[in-house]
Amino acid sequence: MPLEPSGIFIGLGSNLGLGSKAPRDILLDALDLLLQNGDRVTTLSSFWSTKAWPPNRGKPDYLNAICRIETADEDPLALLQRCQVIEARMNRIRSLNDRWANRTLDLDIVDYNGIVSVNCSVITLPHPRIAERDFVLLPLLEIAPDWRHPVSGTLGRVLLQQLRESGNLNDCVRLD
Ligand code: ATP
Ligand code: CA
Ligand code: CA
Repeated sequence: MPLEPSGIFIGLGSNLGLGSKAPRDILLDALDLLLQNGDRVTTLSSFWSTKAWPPNRGKPDYLNAICRIETADEDPLALLQRCQVIEARMNRIRSLNDRWANRTLDLDIVDYNGIVSVNCSVITLPHPRIAERDFVLLPLLEIAPDWRHPVSGTLGRVLLQQLRESGNLNDCVRLD
């Protein structure tokens, strides 16, 4: 039985300020810029603080959130391009030799209406590492408690439980 479209969810992350802006300001600016592009933010999770990966390398903690949006078009690639323009406006610099480099802004399309695409370097849907990341699952479940993984159909809360049992957590903590 096909799954009901689950919505469009974007993961936001930042562990680096920009000028006078702290990560919280950058995430709020990113939400504004999404809106200016016509991507209506309908729900926003709390902000969560997450330890950087790999652990104990002295990198600043991340600020993470998930938002649900409604887009004017139905084009995941166009949304990714809009997200990358917003990242660039926030001076996101991609390091060639550090996959886990600090970043002012990271916008990942976590789930686009349950679309399952082939694994591709340009865009993979759903985002391939949701089940490994408490900093995605925790805010996602806050705003979509019945969310299911589009590939396996497994409830997000079950994935989170499995992640807890595996012990591979990033110490993600909800902020007030
Ligand atoms: P991760 O994907 O593990 O969270 P990252 O966010 O640090 O890593 P980036 O450098 O931001 O990785 O992105 C690398 C590439 O991932 C981008 O150029 C983009 O084309 C691609 N990509 C594939 N699928 C997605 C998706 N669902 N959302 C965002 N980017 C994606
Ligand atoms: Ca990411
Ligand atoms: Ca990314």
